[in-house]
Amino acid sequence: MSKKDYYEVLGVAKDASEKEIKSAFRKKAKQYHPDLNKDNPDAEEKFKEVQEAYSVLSDKSKRSQYDRFGHAGVGGAGGAGFSDFSGFSSGFGGVDIDLDDIIDSVFGGGRSGFSSGFGGSRRNSARRGDDLLIRVDLSFMESVHGTEKDFDLDVVENCKKCKGKGGFDEETCSTCHGSGTVTSEQHTLFGAFLTKTTCPDCKGKGKTYKKKCSECHGSGKVTESKTITVNIPAGINTGDRLRVAGKGNAGANGGEAGDLYLEFHVKSHEYFEREGDDIYLEVPLTLTEALLGCKKIIPTINGNLKLTVPSGTSTNDKQRIKGRGVDNKNRRHKGNMYVVFKVVMPKKLTREQKKLFEKLAKTDLEDKEILEFDKFTEKNA
Ligand SMILES: [Zn+2]
Ligand SMILES: [Zn+2]
Repeated sequence: MSKKDYYEVLGVAKDASEKEIKSAFRKKAKQYHPDLNKDNPDAEEKFKEVQEAYSVLSDKSKRSQYDRFGHAGVGGAGGAGFSDFSGFSSGFGGVDIDLDDIIDSVFGGGRSGFSSGFGGSRRNSARRGDDLLIRVDLSFMESVHGTEKDFDLDVVENCKKCKGKGGFDEETCSTCHGSGTVTSEQHTLFGAFLTKTTCPDCKGKGKTYKKKCSECHGSGKVTESKTITVNIPAGINTGDRLRVAGKGNAGANGGEAGDLYLEFHVKSHEYFEREGDDIYLEVPLTLTEALLGCKKIIPTINGNLKLTVPSGTSTNDKQRIKGRGVDNKNRRHKGNMYVVFKVVMPKKLTREQKKLFEKLAKTDLEDKEILEFDKFTEKNA
């Protein structure tokens, strides 16, 4: 189930201005509004797509998230599962206001007294299930190489016994006579208003059941513990999110299920460090290895490797090993490995070693940098 590009949905260019996006949304929303498309079964789906695209592209931060990370960056329809996650804000709150705006212009205004009535009728239509978010800890090597993991989830599912209806022996709701809404008169300073609200008995469905389902106690929903297996691609890093389509909570009134999002935290490694897709490794050298140079076997994230250490290597000298970083499947990018040397001074010398070093000290080891420094010290006297 791949999602359409939001820019494509609204029919605007990637660099469209806020104004262009707003006007494209108004046009499309009118074109697909379900109330104006009673005989076009695809209209409602299209309308939802348009709403979703607009809710992201009209919000500066969501739009930039989307530009950078695509659908995974904005997470689709927000739900209760996300409320604790910053950056997701909560759902598409902003859209309703603009939508009312549009409906006013479609119906020529004058529906202010009925604004809650519209909400009531929407309650009856298919609604997408909530998204779920779980946080996942990965070991460093799991993140680098990818892994397969099982997750135990509590997922809201449609009740199998009543097929999500909540009961058996359907009948027309006697309170609202099947309309799903009840009308009441409200007297205010400005006169009497008719207010429509969702029917409290059938919750807007327009239907009640003679027999309540014993399995779900009439809600039509049950919470089930499920284990799902997810393939985590190589290259995941802390903060990355993965969407597993359709594995969230069940929708209402035949709406599709929400998505499951995995948000990762990668534990640090004792030796390897990661920067983007590059891997850094500090390699300790003995004094003589550094002075004389050597061949040294070092670990990489893909097994060991023989490295030539040049003579005269100092602490913090770096060597790049091309293509031996993270093979990031998501970004289709391969990083490099950087070896950073650290010369470890011997803490204790044997008598023989001491003699050898004293012998060495008598030879001329001074180079230009040291001579310049000595000159400065002399001048400074
Ligand atoms: Zn009713
Ligand atoms: Zn049931």
